[in-house]
Amino acid sequence: MQRVALVTGASSGIGAAAARRLKDAGFVVYAAARRVEQMSSLKDAGIEVLCLDVTDETSVSTAVKTIVDRSARLDVLVNNAGYGSYGVIETTPLGEGRNQFEVNLFGLARLTQLVLPVMREQGGGTVINVSSMGGKLVAPLGGWYHASKYGVEAFSDALRMETAPFGIRVVIVEPGSIRTQWGTIAAEHVRGSTRSTPYEDMAEQVAKNLATSAEPTTRTASDPDVVGRAIARIAQTRRPRTRYRVGLGATPMVFLRWLLPDRAFDSLVRRAFGVHRLTAPPRPA
Ligand code: NDP
Repeated sequence: MQRVALVTGASSGIGAAAARRLKDAGFVVYAAARRVEQMSSLKDAGIEVLCLDVTDETSVSTAVKTIVDRSARLDVLVNNAGYGSYGVIETTPLGEGRNQFEVNLFGLARLTQLVLPVMREQGGGTVINVSSMGGKLVAPLGGWYHASKYGVEAFSDALRMETAPFGIRVVIVEPGSIRTQWGTIAAEHVRGSTRSTPYEDMAEQVAKNLATSAEPTTRTASDPDVVGRAIARIAQTRRPRTRYRVGLGATPMVFLRWLLPDRAFDSLVRRAFGVHRLTAPPRPA
């Protein structure tokens, strides 16, 4: 019997890499995202492609129903869809903050709710939630993003305890800096939310830093396949750990966050983002 996996956010980056690695490991893989046209190479590799917007109830329930109708089971759910709503808290509309939670946390939650009965019925399964090292520490201008990932961490810890009696494993993956479209999208959000505000200089510095992590030749980020491979390994492990830190910076940065007092850590990340010397622009006379 072939095991079945669903990967969300599979139209690029970590999700696409995980879908390929799971397929190589022998799973029937459903790769899901909004931009189905971006997934033609996955389709050519024998991966089933689904259109999915994790913020849309009908889209989420249709995707789960399609998998159950076609494959009659679902062994692994990889909740990976997400983006980085970076920006200044003062100027980011609350609607954008809500959207960040809709995608990164509520989308993951709704999909999980629909998949759990299927896993319980078949006697077990694995839910792999892609959080971030940013679910354990915070970078400048990342208020909404990090709040959503801290949410994913807490939600996953509760879920793990609830589903253990049913043989359903819950695993948190905390990637470090990974070379994907995530950095470009986060940089666009920073610039968009701070234009002509007193935070513009700080925002530009942070945006440059985020965009660098997406450049093809960057040495400040790992290849998404590092995370894809880890996800495929977790999916095949009978007793996986509760958390996996993968990719550049994840383990040392989480360790430093644990070790250092708040202000020392603030100073370290502000320096890393090049915003430590910035001062507020002069106030109008
Ligand atoms: P990408 O931008 O390359 O991929 C993000 C994926 O999420 C895309 O496939 C996108 O597909 C999908 N997505 C976004 N919004 C929605 C939505 N509403 N419904 C369905 N799918 C959606 O970034 P990554 O691969 O890097 O990101 C994957 C995960 O890894 C995210 O949760 C991210 O926060 C996390 N992460 C990334 C890190 C990094 O440095 N890159 C570090 C730590 C964590 P589409 O737009 O087609 O729907």
